Amino acid sequence: MKILIPGGDGFCGWATALHLSARGHAVHLVDNLSRRKIDIELGVDSLTPIAPLRNRLAAWRELTGRQIEWTDLDAARDYDALERLIRDWRPDAVVHFAEQRSAPYSMKSAATKRYTLENNLSATQNLLCALVETGIDAHLVHLGTMGVYGYGGGMRIPEGYLTIQAEASDGGRLEREILFPPDPGSVYHMTKTQDQLLFYFYNKNDGIRITDLHQGVVWGTQTRETRLDERLINRFDYDGDYGTVLNRFLMQAAVGYPLTVHGSGGQTRAFIHIQDSVRCIEMALTHPPATSERVRIFNQMTETHRVADLARIVAELTGAEIAYLDNPRKEADANDLAADARCLIDLGLQPTTLRTGLLEEIVEIGQRYRERCDRDRIPCTSQWTRMPAAARVDRR
Ligand code: NAD
Repeated sequence: MKILIPGGDGFCGWATALHLSARGHAVHLVDNLSRRKIDIELGVDSLTPIAPLRNRLAAWRELTGRQIEWTDLDAARDYDALERLIRDWRPDAVVHFAEQRSAPYSMKSAATKRYTLENNLSATQNLLCALVETGIDAHLVHLGTMGVYGYGGGMRIPEGYLTIQAEASDGGRLEREILFPPDPGSVYHMTKTQDQLLFYFYNKNDGIRITDLHQGVVWGTQTRETRLDERLINRFDYDGDYGTVLNRFLMQAAVGYPLTVHGSGGQTRAFIHIQDSVRCIEMALTHPPATSERVRIFNQMTETHRVADLARIVAELTGAEIAYLDNPRKEADANDLAADARCLIDLGLQPTTLRTGLLEEIVEIGQRYRERCDRDRIPCTSQWTRMPAAARVDRR
């Protein structure tokens, strides 16, 4: 297959690009390096020493003989160049990672809220428009988030669609499947819920074939391919904005910093290892929806854990202490999370579990690169709301 990967220099995109190239697919990245520029803006760096994208690509070619191409363009702003690239290169599939993906960064200021919304929605809209305009029948696979469901409000979360019963216009009863009601918890998550509507519309109106992968928090760093050489190493974010909860704990344990649990730690989250994430994307690509099929939605997660339990597991493995801090997010102090995630298992996924992969990650990444950690960058400084606590309403 010819696979275009917008966002292919990022954490998930780079690992996916190598995985697909290693399996013989032709891979072309689109990335404007905005993530690396945000590192500079925030004064942070990946814990792992990521090579410049050109060096990464040259190393991959030297080691495997395989070539991955790269076009440096902004998928949200350079529409004409994007359309030209799609027309000329004629991809069979597009795997879309090109969005600003940190919830805390999206809540930092008016500027980051506006950037996140404009960047994410325009990148998605531009890719869809370019497929319509060029008439190229490529399968669009998008990386969405389990966060669009708002943790389900006590309901078991289905894979995308909820069956409802309603009164029919003739007074009878009817049954329909509708998109699960979105309940975003940040501007970032709001862009993902709006992506869903863009997909719904372009699928209905133009027949674009789309798979939306509602992914859990990705943990781990390396995959079979990124381990081949240090020039291919994947990024590892640990700072207060981009460090996702488990990766943050792993690094904190390695540098002797207390594991920072926000609030009571009663929040339950869905997780998936990076190696499983790239395999899921490959499975979604090799099982595309039919032409007339509605948007296909898979929950891409393999296990759920409470944040406090995760901290306890990492503390037991490493002897680290746990520190409970005020929660900067406006969210319920504790939530249950029960979600269906059968589709990818039915396609053959055999998950890496936390119990088997965690220790390796602590040694291979956390301890090996701990000298590169800037401890001042660990706390999360974004605040979700200016509303006084007494005036807040929990709408769940
Ligand atoms: P990342 O920030 O590491 O990578 C995103 C990449 O997209 C970066 O290389 C960035 O430079 C590029 N990019 C952003 N806007 C662009 C634009 N307008 N034009 C061209 N390139 C652009 O993020 P990630 O962790 O790899 O996440 C990728 C996708 O997966 C995101 O959409 C995210 O919402 C989703 N996701 C990630 C996680 C996770 O735990 N990392 C969990 C659920 C969903």
